[in-house]
Amino acid sequence: PETIRALLKRWRNMAPKTAGEARKRYSAAQVRHAVASGELVNYYQPKVEVVSGALKGVETLVRWRHPDDGLVFPDQFIGVAEEHGIIDDLTRIVLTEALAQARRWREAGLVLRIAVNVSMDNLARLDFTNFVLGQIVRAGGAPDELILEVTESRLMTDALASLDTLTRLRLKKISLSIDDLGTGNSSLAQLRDIPFDEIKIDRSFVHGACRDNTRNAIFTASLAMARQLGIVTVAEGVEDQADWDFLRQQGCDLAQGYFIARAMPAEDLPAWLADWETRRPLLAPA
Ligand code: C2E
Ligand code: MG
Ligand code: MG
Ligand code: MG
Repeated sequence: PETIRALLKRWRNMAPKTAGEARKRYSAAQVRHAVASGELVNYYQPKVEVVSGALKGVETLVRWRHPDDGLVFPDQFIGVAEEHGIIDDLTRIVLTEALAQARRWREAGLVLRIAVNVSMDNLARLDFTNFVLGQIVRAGGAPDELILEVTESRLMTDALASLDTLTRLRLKKISLSIDDLGTGNSSLAQLRDIPFDEIKIDRSFVHGACRDNTRNAIFTASLAMARQLGIVTVAEGVEDQADWDFLRQQGCDLAQGYFIARAMPAEDLPAWLADWETRRPLLAPA
C-alpha cells in the first residue's frame, strides 16, 4: 500500500507537466443553456472482459452538440458546471437518458451494465440516492445494472461529506467505482473506508505499461490491492495490442480504450459489436 504512494510520488516528479486544468472556454450561462435546451448527448464507450473479450457494459460519456462549435468534450464544460451549480441538473439528465438507453438495449436483448460519472457535488445532495433509485424504477432496471464512477482525486477531499450518500447507494445495491485511480493521493487505509466495488486504473498507467517500469509497477500494485480487497479492476486507455496483451498477462478484469472502441452514439453500438465479435478470436496473444 505505501509502496503505491511512493511510486506515485516518483511518477509525479518524473511526469512532464501537463496542461493542468482544462481551459474554460464556455461561460456558466452557455453551459446552463446547453443543459436546459437538450444540447447534451450521451456517448457510450464499451467495457469488455479481458479473458473473453465479451462486452459487459458501457461507460456514459457526455458530449455537447454545440450549434456552432460542433461536438464539445466534457473537459471543456464539466468544470464550469461544477463551479456554477449546474452539475446537479447535468448529472440527472445524463443519468436519466443512460437508464432509458439501457432499457432500449435490454428490450433489444442486450443486457449491459451502465456506468455514469458523478461529481462529488452530486453525492453531497441529500436526495441523490432517492433520485437515482426513482429513475431506475422508472426505466424498469435493476440497481445492480448501474455503476457510479467517482474520480479518486476528488473523492478523498470530500469523502466525509458524501460517505452517507455513498453508503446508502451501496445498501441499495448500486455499484461504486473509483475512477482515474492513481491521479489522487489516496492511501489504502483511506480507500478501505469507502464502500466501492470497482477501481479504474487511470490511462496514464495503462497505455505503454509493458514498456515502462514505473507505469508497470503502479499498475501491478493497484491490481494487487484490488485483488486483496476483492473488487473488480478496469484498465482505461487500452490503446494497442501490446496494452491488451499486458492486461491479459496481469489478469485485469475489464478493459476500455481506443483499441476496443471510442465512445460512440448509442445507435452505433450494434454495428460496433458485430464487428468486434469478428475481431475477438484474433485477440489472443500468439
Ligand atoms: P473518465 O471518466 O476518466 O473517462 C475516460 C476518458 O478517456 C473519456 O474522455 C474517454 O473518451 C477517454 N478515453 C477512452 N479511451 C481512451 C484511450 O484509449 N485513450 C485515450 N487517450 N483516451 C481515452 P472524455 O469523454 O473526454 O471525458 C473526460 C472526462 O470527463 C471523463 O473522464 C469524466 O471524468 C468526465 N465526464 C464525462 N462525462 C461526464 C458526466 O456525465 N458527468 C461528469 N461529472 N463527468 C463526466
Ligand atoms: Mg469515468
Ligand atoms: Mg476514468
Ligand atoms: Mg480518465
